[in-house]
Amino acid sequence: MVSQFSTFKFQLSVEDVLAKAQAKERSLDRGEISFLLSLSDSDDIAKFFAAAYEVKVKHIGRRVALRGIIEAGNICSKDCLYCGIRRSNGALGRYSLSEDDIYRLAEECAKENYASLVIQSGELESDAHTLFIERVLKRIEPLNLGVTLSLGEQSEEVYKRWRDAGAARYLLRIETSNKELYAKLHPTGHSWERRVECLRALRRTGYQVGTGVMSCLPCQSIDDLAQDIIFFGEMDVDMIGMGPYIPHPEAPLSSLYSQDVSNEERLLMGLKMIAATRLYLHDINIAAATALQALADDGREQGIMAGANVIMPNITDTQYRRNYQLYAGKPCLDENEEDYRSALEKRLTDLGETIVYGERGDSLHYARRVR
Ligand code: SAH
Repeated sequence: MVSQFSTFKFQLSVEDVLAKAQAKERSLDRGEISFLLSLSDSDDIAKFFAAAYEVKVKHIGRRVALRGIIEAGNICSKDCLYCGIRRSNGALGRYSLSEDDIYRLAEECAKENYASLVIQSGELESDAHTLFIERVLKRIEPLNLGVTLSLGEQSEEVYKRWRDAGAARYLLRIETSNKELYAKLHPTGHSWERRVECLRALRRTGYQVGTGVMSCLPCQSIDDLAQDIIFFGEMDVDMIGMGPYIPHPEAPLSSLYSQDVSNEERLLMGLKMIAATRLYLHDINIAAATALQALADDGREQGIMAGANVIMPNITDTQYRRNYQLYAGKPCLDENEEDYRSALEKRLTDLGETIVYGERGDSLHYARRVR
């Protein structure tokens, strides 16, 4: 990604920009955020990530919250040009977990003391689906987990029903705050405006609201990414889940635009986005997304050291994972398996971080805004 901001080097100092961002949230302007995202010197990048990590530690502590993620189904009515589970991908076996399957996984999540759960799936809008999710939520309510839904665009009424049935948080990525770029990434019929309206409806309905974007998309500039972060602030979101775009061979975007971006560059930009977002919005929850792990084994841990505070181990049964490949190389590990969990725990402990078992890890920002 070529930056049009390299000349800023002569006007801005890394130390000054970082000090300003640390002193007060939302203090950077779009140009200053672009300046940070454009840093290329490895010492400067190290300072940038360390400053973001300091902000994370100051507000949240050396603590990482876990949320078990259940990929509840890959049937999707959307046809997003980048996504491996898009409607038109005929090469994919479609599945949806039963109520019993989801309950069993939620029970495991409670047993592991994760205290929080994410239910994600393709986007479906139907009475049957609304009812199904409602039943699932009511059934898992006694497990007393903090439940996040990531089930796409729905009507305000549906969001309200699911909130009343026990969901506390909702993650709906805007994908990009640039409307023209959004139009390039989606077929006609998909609406950026509706997605923004959904985020507003979620807020009105009382959820902790999460959004996010992909970085390293074709036709995306550094300035677009800086604007994405300003957008997070304007929407006053409580949580962020974002990661680099990784081409999927069955999704048309990978052949529509040729890109010369290495995995290292994708990982680096994913980490820079986390760090810049933490420096801009001090007290929100930021997830180190699975896409980071697809690019490096310790990608999520690197995300924590750049300012993220949430990791979402995948607890979906491995037999289904192959069919929830949003992008190429998505890890299919059984993260609920004892060895895997202790390895993650050890890696985080080695970094000086503690996993907060038994706490929901609600967004501090949400607690402050509803107080
Ligand atoms: N349908 C739900 C969630 C499922 S997809 C919803 O719209 O909210 C979850 C996220 O995966 C998407 O929001 C998108 O940002 C990400 N994703 C999809 N394809 C991707 C790709 N090729 N590379 C990286 N992330 C991708």
